[in-house]
Amino acid sequence: MLWLLVSAVFLWCAFREVRDSLVAPAGFELPRPIYKPYLAMTLSLAALFAWPPLHRWSFERFLSARATELAENHPARVHCNTLLDTLLDPEMLAGGHADPRTGKIFIQPPGCSTLRAYLSHPGSATPHDLWSLGLFTHESMHVRGERNEALTECEAVQRNYRAAKLLGVPDGIAKQNALDYYDSVYKRRRNLGPMQSQYFSEECAPGKSMDEHLSDSTWAELEVPSR
Ligand SMILES: [Zn+2]
Repeated sequence: MLWLLVSAVFLWCAFREVRDSLVAPAGFELPRPIYKPYLAMTLSLAALFAWPPLHRWSFERFLSARATELAENHPARVHCNTLLDTLLDPEMLAGGHADPRTGKIFIQPPGCSTLRAYLSHPGSATPHDLWSLGLFTHESMHVRGERNEALTECEAVQRNYRAAKLLGVPDGIAKQNALDYYDSVYKRRRNLGPMQSQYFSEECAPGKSMDEHLSDSTWAELEVPSR
């Protein structure tokens, strides 16, 4: 918002420069010719300050539409928090949070920028990139109606393949990314202490009780281990 206000100030300066070239400003008898370097500078600065919030807004709209699809048409609204938003957020220590009643999803920095970076190079995704994919899918599952963290995360694990494809990742890479998330990011939670282990369950595996048997599940073609 602050950036848009600064942009508006520079836009007003540009407008005043054009207006004064058409109508004599106060204290002058004739209109003033436009000083082109000044006009170019104010317009450039207006665009420069408007770009980050508009870019974020368009990414939020994109994520909101995809989250709504993942949440099986429960309306989702994604907000990428700025640092200031996070400082004022009562859940500032969480990577993100969502309210199943309102459909609002808040993603703390650097979640959105990491997700955007991941989408630009999904073929060489790092564990941190995969974390941002999992975070997006996890919050979408809350909007779908799940509140229990272990169940929410397992639903996300099974839908990360679908989520990556919805976000535009090519099929084969989306599958590999989703499996990598399950094998590395998810399974590591088991050993990371009580805060992380609440998101983990041994039952979240092919053929176990949390398996939803989705036709496009991340682990759809994995062999069920014999017992
Ligand atoms: Zn959660």
